[in-house]
Amino acid sequence: MFYTFYMAIQITEEKNCTGCTACQAVCPVSCIAMQEDAKGFLYPSVDYDLCIECGLCERTCPLLKPISQENKVLSVYAAKAKDKEILRKSSSGGMFIPLSDAMLKEGGVVYGAAFNPLMEVSHCRCTTFTERDRCVGSKYVQSNLVGVLDQVKKDLNEKRPVLFTGTPCQVAGLLSFLAQTNTDTSLLVCCDVFCFGVPSPKVWKDYLKQVEREKGEPVKEAFFRDKTYGWADFSLRLETEHTASVEKNNENAYMQLFLQRLINRPSCFDCHFSNLDRKGDLSIGDYWGIEHSMPDFFESNGVSVTLVNSQKGKAWMEKIKDTLSLRESNLNDCMQPVLSGPTAQPIGYESFWKQYARSGFGEERT
Ligand SMILES: Cc1cc2nc3c(=O)[nH]c(=O)nc-3n(C[C@H](O)[C@H](O)[C@H](O)COP(=O)(O)OP(=O)(O)OC[C@H]3O[C@@H](n4cnc5c(N)ncnc54)[C@H](O)[C@@H]3O)c2cc1C
Repeated sequence: MFYTFYMAIQITEEKNCTGCTACQAVCPVSCIAMQEDAKGFLYPSVDYDLCIECGLCERTCPLLKPISQENKVLSVYAAKAKDKEILRKSSSGGMFIPLSDAMLKEGGVVYGAAFNPLMEVSHCRCTTFTERDRCVGSKYVQSNLVGVLDQVKKDLNEKRPVLFTGTPCQVAGLLSFLAQTNTDTSLLVCCDVFCFGVPSPKVWKDYLKQVEREKGEPVKEAFFRDKTYGWADFSLRLETEHTASVEKNNENAYMQLFLQRLINRPSCFDCHFSNLDRKGDLSIGDYWGIEHSMPDFFESNGVSVTLVNSQKGKAWMEKIKDTLSLRESNLNDCMQPVLSGPTAQPIGYESFWKQYARSGFGEERT
């Protein structure tokens, strides 16, 4: 009789996994699939009948590498798009549109997070301005990367310039995968967003079902950073075919759960990337507190903070600088908790999920 003993593969452990899909993309025998857990997050699941125990998945996993505290930031800017329409529809000061415009004008490809027709969030590949427009605006739902890292590799191998945007853990996963596969990254520029944690796609889906029950028709558009009440007081705007509603964060059940960190991915509480060793060539976020540090630069429709982390990032800032109002700043003035350590797991996180498993989203709203 034969017994097979499998080494426990560390990539499958909840605390080690951000869902970046690097392990799945790198597996030479395609024995890793991303599967949804009870909280609605994707984790690698290994088919041990196919696994050849080569260890590539563990060597590629960015969470199994030591955490670096190196400060990569070369310069800091407060930035806002000169075009008022770009500023209005962007989450912060509108850095993403000029960056992606510049990439598309060069004949390159842009990757970012977008809603699909079912209102699920996944990364998409954009070669036109219309496709890119779907990536504008923050989606406070974890974006699905399945299949995307391979597409980026293919574009780079075909010598197409690529702008990849996403959370720092997604950028880390992509870079690790490209390094492991010896892909030439000279035509790749990465931009990470400051990140407070990514919420559960399942809870988002359940929430949308509840809204559909209330409104009698499905939600077709969602804007997490609607500026009706201003940039700092951002609201969630939902549109169905015949209705539109705007709810302030403190009035909206989904946004309350997100802001209380109750529906964040478990690995976010042990984030390896909430520091100044930025993975992107550029990092973009909200310039909170600018009304105090630079009152004459404040803009009620939003100001972005931009960290330039590499020479490539510097070159891209140079390309887009004419479309922006820019002011040099410093790390002290724009410092946020998400740059100095992971957000803490809230008290009640586990009990919230136990309750959620019993009664779902509807009960949580009361
Ligand atoms: C989950 C999440 C948490 C965040 N937390 C913070 C925070 O704590 N502090 C802070 O200052 N900023 C945070 N941000 C960033 C901020 O909300 C803006 O996305 C950022 O300032 C860029 O805004 P913009 O005006 O330049 O462009 P926008 O057009 O508003 O931003 C679009 C960009 O965001 C990316 N994006 C949108 N949704 C997602 C997603 N689900 N996953 C990956 N990438 C996505 C798109 O690919 C695109 O690059 C967070 C963003 C997300 C998605």
